[in-house]
Formats: sequence, structure tokens, C-alpha cells
Amino acid sequence: MIVRLRRVLACTAAWLSASAGAYDALRAQPAATRRLPVTDAMRPFVSVDAPLVALIDVTVIDGTGAPSAAHQTVLVRDGRIVAVGPVGVVAVPPRALRLERPGHTLIPGLVGLHEHSYFGGVKRITQMSTSGPLLYLAHGVTTAMSAGSMLPYQERAMKQAIDAGRLPGPDYLITGPYLDGAATVSINARPLTSAAEARRVIAYWAAEGATWVKVQGRISRAMLREVIQAAHARGLKVTGHLCSVTFAEAADAGIDALQHGFITASDYVPGKQPDVCPPENMRIQSTIDAGSPAVQASIRRLAKSGTPVVSTLAVYESFSRERFRLDTAAMAMLDPDVRREVEANHAALGTDGGLTVSPALLTNMMRWEYDFVQAGGLLGAGSDPWGTGFLPGFGNLRNFEMLREAGFSAEAAIRILTLNGARILGRAQEIGAITPGRRADLVLVEGNPAVNPQDLYRVVTVFRAGVGFDAKRLRDAARGLVGVR
Ligand SMILES: [Zn+2]
Repeated sequence: MIVRLRRVLACTAAWLSASAGAYDALRAQPAATRRLPVTDAMRPFVSVDAPLVALIDVTVIDGTGAPSAAHQTVLVRDGRIVAVGPVGVVAVPPRALRLERPGHTLIPGLVGLHEHSYFGGVKRITQMSTSGPLLYLAHGVTTAMSAGSMLPYQERAMKQAIDAGRLPGPDYLITGPYLDGAATVSINARPLTSAAEARRVIAYWAAEGATWVKVQGRISRAMLREVIQAAHARGLKVTGHLCSVTFAEAADAGIDALQHGFITASDYVPGKQPDVCPPENMRIQSTIDAGSPAVQASIRRLAKSGTPVVSTLAVYESFSRERFRLDTAAMAMLDPDVRREVEANHAALGTDGGLTVSPALLTNMMRWEYDFVQAGGLLGAGSDPWGTGFLPGFGNLRNFEMLREAGFSAEAAIRILTLNGARILGRAQEIGAITPGRRADLVLVEGNPAVNPQDLYRVVTVFRAGVGFDAKRLRDAARGLVGVR
């Protein structure tokens, strides 16, 4: 089997030429029969493929924030959830494939809102064209939004490979390259110097298939407005890792999602000059009292504006010498040379002049996000893979534990990872919750993460549009590939 998987994966790189494939066919089907078509490339990973599937006697955490429910039956027909209810109440048709799974929990597929297909933070940036999709899907991420690309054409090709069924992976939304202001300090960003240029670049990437654009921290208020206007005119949304522009200013400009939360909000830097990224941003937040009346008032204003925020708590933990430990299972996914480099990065945390995140800063970030949600704010989450040893999929699951630590109930934390993400993407009618009518994007885990948060890592089967993928086979196929392909 392993030999066969290797052969399949080796071929995927050569199969990147476009062809009308499985996912294109999926979109052309009428809504009632939208089960994911299984291609030859996907078959080695598929463990459940039947028109009618009954998951029987599972605990359901449905993504809406409702209390978890034990002893449930979830019925899936043609890729759609058609019934959810107690065992014995939901009738299981005789022709259904019966999957009796007591001791297991079913959650909606995760919606990742800060994902990357490149592996950065190491000397040689490489695209995770094969390993990224496998690892996301293996850990239950069924929808992933890129939060910027350093290799945008490779990311686009990766999306096409997934959409055509040449590679198992999440429904992947691309942004194209990072956009920034003329003052950018990043060689990987496209600096924008005029409104006409912003319109031209966004029109191009819209035509290339981008559905969001990602802006960086040196953009001015005026240029951010131009970007938002140009993007919205083409039906695209805008997200940003901001600095020159405060969260309040960006919300006012109509941004569609703010990345990273408190740590990047320059609103709290004393003496902040308009359109200037203060160098102390992302550090000073460790000394700011997140409970102060001024911060609390700003949180309430932001929540009231309706501007969503994306939590990336877990990646910042990977910059904490005090807290972060390299995960053996994640490290096994790295190419051996890249693994040595990541281990060196980790050992050098706090000594190499790079970003470090103190436990006090993490506590402040958690408090800020918790209070934002209590104030009515819409919070989603994403991983932000990085060379600190923080990988696709693993990071999305670590967010769950950190949201729990922030004070959210298990049900509320799952909602942040699922339905809230779907709402931010504008897809809440389609995905994000285990309710009849929605697409059967589901994650079956052993145990119960509401009782033991670590159980969320025990992913057994991940369903995309009703087709179940074996998590272990996906993980095994990604072993050693991060940093290579
Ligand atoms: Zn990022």
C-alpha cells in the first residue's frame, strides 16, 4: 500500500496540467447529489464511499455552539447531511452503510482562515504542494483560506490539483501574492503605489481564481480603502495582517477579516502616528492591560462594527520559549534537513533577536479574544504554518486547546473553528455545522474532545462532501515531505 501511495504522490507533481476533474464535476451536479467524486488518485486514501451513510451512536458537537449530544445518529445522503438525532429516533434505511462508532465524536470539518501552502521561516522557502493538502485534510481541515502566498503560481496549481481530484485536500481558497503599501519591507509582497495599480493587480488575481486578497502591515489607510473598493467591486474579500493601519481604522474602511487579534492591533501603541507601523507593535502588547477600560471599549466598538477577527493563538505560542515544545508527530512530517533547521530555530528562540512571545503576551491575547466574543464579536481561527515547527493541520487543532485555555467551552471553541469560519467566508448556509441540508464535511475523532481536549488529535476519518478519507493514510503519505513538496 505504501509503495502505491508513493507512486500516486510522485505522479501528482506531473499531473498539474489542467483538466476538467472531480471537483469541477462536483460543482456541475445538482445540489441534491453532490457527493465528492472519487478519482483514481484519491482512492488509496478513501475509507468510506457510499451514497447513503449512517454514523451511529456518536457524540455530536455540531458547530453551532449547542451543547454536545451523546448517542446520536447522523445520516448522510449523496454528500449532504439529511438527518441528525438520537439513536432510535433517526430511522436508518436498510440500504445505508452503517458505521456504528460508540466512543467517537463527530464535529464539522474545520474552516481554516490563516493557512499557507508555503513553508516559511526557514532558509529555503518551499511550497507544500503535496504535504500541505494532505496534512490539512488529515487533521480535519476541509476548507482552507490562504492568508497570502510567497509562491502564488504554485499555490494556484495546488488548488487546481485538489479541485481536479488529483490530490486529496481541503477546499482551498487562494489570495494570490501578498499586497502591501509602497513602504513595504517584504520582498515577497506586491507594493501598491496607486489606486489604478491596486485595481489592475486585483483584477488580474480575480481572473486567476483568487477569492480573497491579503494585505500586509505597511499599507496606508488610503491604499487600504482602494484595495477594499477594488476587491469588493469584483466580489473578492480583503483580510490583513495590519500595523500601519489600526484595527479601528481598518474596520471603518470595511475590511472583511482582521488577522491575528490583539498582538497586531496597533490601536494600543502609545503615540501611534497615522499610516506608520510602530516598531514596538507585536511586543508592547505584553505590557498593555487587556482589561483596562480603554482596551475594553475598543473591543466593544470592534465587535459592534461586525468586523470579524481571525485567531492565530497557536502559532504565536510556537514563538514562546517557555511554552512551546516541538511535537514529535509533526516533526516526522519534515524532510530531515529541514527538521534539523527547525530544531535549531526552536533552540535559538529568544536568543537570535527574532520575535519571541512571552506567556504574559499570550495571556493578554487570549483575554482579548475571549472578551471580543463576549462582546458579540465574530471570531474565526487559522493556523499560519511556520518554521518554528508549526505545521498545517497540527496547528489548527492546537488552536482548539488554546481557545479552551482562553476560557471558551469546548462547544464555543469548535464553533470558532467551524461555523464562525464559514460565516466569515460567507458560506454558512453550506458548511460549518452538522445540521440537515449542509454539505457532509465532517470529522470523526476517537474519544471526546469536550472531555479531553487532546482527543481532537485522534482523527480517524475526515469526510469531504460525504466521502470519508482515512486520516492515518493521509498523514503517512505526508511523512518527510514538508520542506520538499
Ligand atoms: Zn501568515
